Amino acid sequence: MKVEAVRMRNVKTGEQKTIPVHGFFVAIGHQPNSEIFKDWLDMDDAGYIKAIPGTSKTNIEGVFAAGDVQDKVYRQAVTAAGSGCMAALDAERYLSALELQ
Ligand SMILES: Cc1cc2nc3c(=O)[nH]c(=O)nc-3n(C[C@H](O)[C@H](O)[C@H](O)COP(=O)(O)OP(=O)(O)OC[C@H]3O[C@@H](n4cnc5c(N)ncnc54)[C@H](O)[C@@H]3O)c2cc1C
Repeated sequence: MKVEAVRMRNVKTGEQKTIPVHGFFVAIGHQPNSEIFKDWLDMDDAGYIKAIPGTSKTNIEGVFAAGDVQDKVYRQAVTAAGSGCMAALDAERYLSALELQ
């Protein structure tokens, strides 16, 4: 079995058409899944969490943001991993500074 066509529907007009293809990639869009934090964390109009530039720190002390949810420019695996490392280090330093017993 192989792909022979995709059936498209314009969600604004309802128009439908079938386009013959041999393959396709699904684009899921760029809406960050940050809704649950909207009452607490600062975000831009598109829902990307705002981190203090050069850090992973958010407007709430001890809460750090990493990955695509705070990056509307690059949104790549390697940049997400890098910012994840930043957040891990920021969190570790934050916890160390608390000097918990
Ligand atoms: C089709 C496509 C192709 C791509 N190709 C490339 C490429 O070739 N090279 C490249 O570098 N990057 C590519 N990317 C981008 C790359 O996948 C992302 O930049 C990367 O996955 C971001 O990592 P992340 O950890 O920030 O977010 P994600 O990988 O999206 O991880 C977020 C996780 O959080 C989970 N989650 C969300 N909401 C909740 C919740 N409320 N509670 C608990 N868990 C939750 C999700 O299920 C998910 O597992 C591609 C992306 C797409 C969609």
